[in-house]
Amino acid sequence: MTVDLSQMPQTKLLLVVPCYNEEEILTKTHRTLQQYRTRLVQEGKIAPESKICYVNDGSRDRTWQLIDDICNTDTHAIGIKLSRNFGHQSAILAGLMHHIQDFDCFVTIDADLQDDVEAIGQMLDQHHDGAMVVYGVRDDRSSDTWFKRTTAEGFYKVMRWMGVPVVFNHADFRLMDRRILEEFSHFKEVNLFLRGIIPLIGFRSEKVFYKRFEREAGETKYPLKKMLLFAWNGVTSFSTFPMRLVLYFGVFNFLIAMGIGVYIGVSYLFGSTVAGWTSIVLPMTFFSGANMIALGLIGEYVGKIYEEVKGRPRYIIEKVTTDAAQ
Ligand code: UDP
Ligand code: MG
Repeated sequence: MTVDLSQMPQTKLLLVVPCYNEEEILTKTHRTLQQYRTRLVQEGKIAPESKICYVNDGSRDRTWQLIDDICNTDTHAIGIKLSRNFGHQSAILAGLMHHIQDFDCFVTIDADLQDDVEAIGQMLDQHHDGAMVVYGVRDDRSSDTWFKRTTAEGFYKVMRWMGVPVVFNHADFRLMDRRILEEFSHFKEVNLFLRGIIPLIGFRSEKVFYKRFEREAGETKYPLKKMLLFAWNGVTSFSTFPMRLVLYFGVFNFLIAMGIGVYIGVSYLFGSTVAGWTSIVLPMTFFSGANMIALGLIGEYVGKIYEEVKGRPRYIIEKVTTDAAQ
């Protein structure tokens, strides 16, 4: 198919790829992304100045050396090295924010090729038709383990139930117009949960469905503990619903205590009170437990406030291989 490139709107695209200990797959990832980039340029969907940005999130293996090599041989690749491990969300943020002025639209994708690169073309079509955000949604998770699938589904359900507008089965594979990032730059929270923030920005959004593949090499950087932590952060940095639950629980406890009081009163009137050990100890343990839960939960939120108030940088860039403007 021949396309008259001069007639097409030339979208300058930046692909942002967070990388943490990905030496086993990075070379292959780059080959795939680079080929796909060239194809998109040939099809006239993106401008020839479009680039791929790898963000090294404090990897302890040879990831940075690989990124450096890639950038030396491919002028369409940019490497950003963070000063330490800041986490997936901050790595994405660094890649996006560093280039906000240089590109028209941005796609974030994981380094492990689990997300289908072919979906990027569809995302660009949607963008061309006016969508400001395009979410990549996995409609087939059969490549994930049963455990990962169930916990992930539970997570999305709980988030929705608590009023956080997450898109079901969407991780961080998405296209965003520069305008979205400009609005996003006003969101200053340290506890970043992009999946919750981006839908809050509004504008027209679309979904592109794709099949999620298995990780081809290397291992997941999200073992159970980190996954639970991520989910917990997602909930507590977005919703005060758990606090309200504690309040409900407290009211419920209070009602039970009243009930017990009435029971004791009635028993006394009818003269059948046995100097009750149970009726003292049982409520005592019960209520002290409830108190502890409430305090712990409040502590969690106070801790979050503390982190936000300090306003520490969300990432620190040690160096960048090439300037996007070059
Ligand atoms: N990642 C990162 N920093 C971290 C952990 C992960 O940049 O601290 C990157 C990782 O290299 C990958 C993406 O985030 O590109 C998603 O991680 P992973 O594939 O391990 O998560 P999963 O798909 O298993 O949930
Ligand atoms: Mg993965």
